[in-house]
Amino acid sequence: MRRFDVCIIGGGAAGLAVAALLDDNLKVCILEKNEIPGRKLLATGGGRCNLTNEACQGKDATLDFFASIGLATHCDEEGRYYPYTNRAADVRQALLNAQGSHVETLYGFTVERLERIESGFVIGSASDADPEICATSVVLATGGKAAPQYGTTGDGYALAKAAGHRVSRLFPILAPVECADEDGLNLSSVKGIRAKASARLWKDGKPVGERAEAGEVQFTADGLSGICIFNLTPYIKAEDGEAPKDAMKRFCITLDLAPDFCEEDLRERKSSFGILTRELADLADQKMQLRNCGPELIKNWTFQVTNVKGWRQAQCTSGGVLLEEIHENTMESKIWPGLYFAGEILNVQGPCGGFNLQNAWETAAKTAHAINHKNNTNP
Ligand SMILES: Cc1cc2nc3c(=O)[nH]c(=O)nc-3n(C[C@H](O)[C@H](O)[C@H](O)COP(=O)(O)OP(=O)(O)OC[C@H]3O[C@@H](n4cnc5c(N)ncnc54)[C@H](O)[C@@H]3O)c2cc1C
Repeated sequence: MRRFDVCIIGGGAAGLAVAALLDDNLKVCILEKNEIPGRKLLATGGGRCNLTNEACQGKDATLDFFASIGLATHCDEEGRYYPYTNRAADVRQALLNAQGSHVETLYGFTVERLERIESGFVIGSASDADPEICATSVVLATGGKAAPQYGTTGDGYALAKAAGHRVSRLFPILAPVECADEDGLNLSSVKGIRAKASARLWKDGKPVGERAEAGEVQFTADGLSGICIFNLTPYIKAEDGEAPKDAMKRFCITLDLAPDFCEEDLRERKSSFGILTRELADLADQKMQLRNCGPELIKNWTFQVTNVKGWRQAQCTSGGVLLEEIHENTMESKIWPGLYFAGEILNVQGPCGGFNLQNAWETAAKTAHAINHKNNTNP
């Protein structure tokens, strides 16, 4: 049995941030199932790591934190913050550099068991080769279920449930959407084509959300992708008791593929080529013939949703450990004192643009400050 003051389960964004912020006089271990830390972090923001957003309330604290550990940042014209070097690997490196020698990481350690004992917690894996860990405080930072190829297979929910916590319904979000052209046109000729667009989601013929999502849409073999499509996915879900297949039939997406042009401008044209790429314009021409209308149809092109892609292609988990069972200022469990939650395991989810990593940094900082405070007041 090995004894620590704090055991952090999961060495991803939140776990590494907690470790970086814990006081030096605490003996800390990180248990990480991968052989390297922050595997998912490396893939964020297309390898650039969009670490927060101008629109996030806690963004100043996040920027101060990264400045304090030596990482300069910059903001793009859409309010998204990245490391100044534009490399996710440097975000991870800065977090690792900030860890003192009081932090030890055990890699290849998949936590399967969390038990409460009088002096704290016992944590174990399924492997006899791993030591049993005993800790006064435990931080559950195992992430969610999205992108399991990076290690996040939803293990933390079972550990949270073992502690008596409830977990809300989980489904993949920020993922590509499978859909079909409403007139049955074959989309294979436009696979891989990108276009400036604004995308709107409809449910039962009524618009969902306050505004359309602007950005770049990408056509795929079976539907649509791109950040403006990802941001529609939190709303594409079955209601309680509804079969997912039936639920999907109620949703469609309309694309405005000429957001900088008005309908009159388009009516004066013979074709949409020149605004759209040749491949897309050819498809639009087929649609014009079918519908006997002009290129203005590209301002309102309808796709019937058939599915949202699954966990492997999702960037985030909708749902998680219920917040009402956690103290919001300290992230400590109301059920098992000494147990803390940080990151995507919580029932918190935001759109693309740095909001989900902001949640990881923010909840990590609250956790670390609470543990430091407890340590300083009850040494
Ligand atoms: C491709 C991609 C791009 C993204 N880009 C962005 C972006 O640019 N900006 C943004 O805000 N968000 C982005 N996200 C979302 C963001 O990465 C996550 O919300 C964030 O990493 C969550 O942090 P976390 O620490 O909770 O979980 P993670 O970073 O996922 O870390 C959890 C860690 O726990 C480990 N673990 C899990 N179970 C166990 C276990 N049983 N025992 C031991 N260890 C375990 C995992 O191996 C993992 O290392 C992206 C997601 C993906 C998939």
